[in-house]
Amino acid sequence: MFDYLIVGAGFAGSVLAERLATRSNKKVLIVDKRSHIAGNAYDHYNEEGILVHKYGPHIFHTNSKDVFEYLSNFTDWRPYEHRVLASVDGQLVPMPINLDTINKLYGLSLNSFEVEQFLESLAEQVPVIKTSEDVVVSKVGRELYEKFFRNYTRKQWGMDPSELDKSVTSRVPTRTNRDDRYFTDTYQAMPLHGYTRMFERMLDHPNIKVMLNTDYHDIVDFIPFKEMIFTGPVDEYFDFKYGKLPYRSLEFKHETLNQENYLAAPVVNYPNDNLYTRITEFKALTGQKHPKTSIVYEYPKAEGDPYYPVPRLENAELYNKYKKLADETPNVHFVGRLATYKYYNMDQVVAQALTLYKKLTEKPEEAQKVVKPTIIGSASIMEKLVPRDPAKE
Ligand SMILES: Cc1cc2nc3c(=O)[nH]c(=O)nc-3n(C[C@H](O)[C@H](O)[C@H](O)COP(=O)(O)OP(=O)(O)OC[C@H]3O[C@@H](n4cnc5c(N)ncnc54)[C@H](O)[C@@H]3O)c2cc1C
Repeated sequence: MFDYLIVGAGFAGSVLAERLATRSNKKVLIVDKRSHIAGNAYDHYNEEGILVHKYGPHIFHTNSKDVFEYLSNFTDWRPYEHRVLASVDGQLVPMPINLDTINKLYGLSLNSFEVEQFLESLAEQVPVIKTSEDVVVSKVGRELYEKFFRNYTRKQWGMDPSELDKSVTSRVPTRTNRDDRYFTDTYQAMPLHGYTRMFERMLDHPNIKVMLNTDYHDIVDFIPFKEMIFTGPVDEYFDFKYGKLPYRSLEFKHETLNQENYLAAPVVNYPNDNLYTRITEFKALTGQKHPKTSIVYEYPKAEGDPYYPVPRLENAELYNKYKKLADETPNVHFVGRLATYKYYNMDQVVAQALTLYKKLTEKPEEAQKVVKPTIIGSASIMEKLVPRDPAKE
């Protein structure tokens, strides 16, 4: 009998497994339909021995001391401040737009004060800011919007920024100084030995059993448990009762090049050219030394693994219908990016999971009831219950 069945071994599922097992002495079964732990943050050494992120670059940054300290129990860190260049008008310029971006693009030598005035002169009046287009043209005007945002967003989301909620482009600041860091959070670092190693440490506990290559549908009726924590897509949990929630997907094309370095920055964005949105060079993120280098191209797609909930009003309304069902489902807790249909970063998901842990453990024990029939699984199912032994990997 497990106290918890956790669906999904990404940040949301693994943080809860770790807390429940180590702090509350709960027996936890965590399943993932993929062949690995760590969800979208999964990294591994490729055939050339270079550490790569299978699902695209994951850069850790947070303002939360609690989240950083929590994760520090499972990893040391490599200080890393992320930088991005955008290929625009045949030049590579800093992104987010800053003083140097404007000076380089327009052949000017403005100072911070002058660039502020310059951007103000370009900005358009937008009475009510509703869409992603409104956010940008009201800050930097139409020309920079066209050069940096319009086509990138169309590629990334398959939609014009005027059709997308303001939250998408609000995430990207505009700076009038020369700060070229992509993020300004207090804590910016990469797990020293990678994300997967960090997750292995989180899940390395006798109370935690990990079952990979397993869709929870295949085991849910056979393995007894008291409560479920679900971190997969919420619409899938309810058999798409109200229809599919739209997600944007990506195809990752990984390549290893026979040269030590490739890009002028860890990530180069291509807003206007090519079918891919950006290229990442992993060694720049991980600090690994190697005579070759590995890169990844990202091609946005409509179909495929669900990566990005699409932020549009009608999708939020559809999600709210699923949320109501979720709230009414006893002993199942929905947490994480897919289960709450929110565009969360890793640190936000960790915070959400820690908050749920607190809520679960404040709940009186008596209220927890067995909700599944106690059917002992067949030998083949039970054989798949393989406790992970990181030492052997
Ligand atoms: C391309 C890309 C780049 C990103 N870059 C960053 C970044 O730089 N910084 C940052 O902070 N965040 C980044 N993120 C966001 C980050 O990936 C998420 O915040 C984080 O992975 C969410 O964790 P999660 O546990 O909610 O979901 P996930 O990591 O998606 O984990 C959910 C798990 O559930 C499993 N699952 C789903 N359905 C089932 C089922 N039926 N049965 C069994 N298992 C199931 C899935 O296989 C998956 O492993 C990025 C995301 C993407 C897609």
